[in-house]
Amino acid sequence: MLKKITEYYNRIELPKVRAKVSEYKEENLEFGRECRLRYIKQQITELNDDIDDTLELISEVEDEWLRDLLTDYHGIEGKLKRLKSFQYELEHKDSSKITEEDILAARQVDIISLDLIPNTRSIGNGRYACPCIFHEETQPSMVIYGKGKGGFCFGCNRLFSSIDIVMHYHNYSFIEAVKYLINK
Ligand SMILES: [Zn+2]
Repeated sequence: MLKKITEYYNRIELPKVRAKVSEYKEENLEFGRECRLRYIKQQITELNDDIDDTLELISEVEDEWLRDLLTDYHGIEGKLKRLKSFQYELEHKDSSKITEEDILAARQVDIISLDLIPNTRSIGNGRYACPCIFHEETQPSMVIYGKGKGGFCFGCNRLFSSIDIVMHYHNYSFIEAVKYLINK
């Protein structure tokens, strides 16, 4: 009897259950994509408005040094980069996905050339040292290796790549950071 039930289950019920599960997965993926697109569109609108407002404000200032200061203060450069990255994602609609090649290419981007980490100094052989950005310290325990090799902090034992650095400084998700790096 039990054997018959198992057989029936495997032959008739199991395929139905599997079909339901994959349908559910597909729906959720679609839902996720739509949410992401809505979010991107909203971000683009907000960033555009924000940048326009700031630029208008700055254009009224006569002193160049004050204009520079205000541009920095409002983080215009970062906002423009973010805008560019969102616009790219919108143009390539299915780019909520990234490939393994994208990740590898993103990791190849030289951390130093990103110009995000302060107080780095060359220690030879293409390496740089600086105070760690992931834990509080004043002495440099963080070493950044040559192009595409990432870095390591001997204080908090943290291994990191260019992707982690972009996530840290731009507050991007992993996917956003990869996209940002490969579009640089
Ligand atoms: Zn550290």
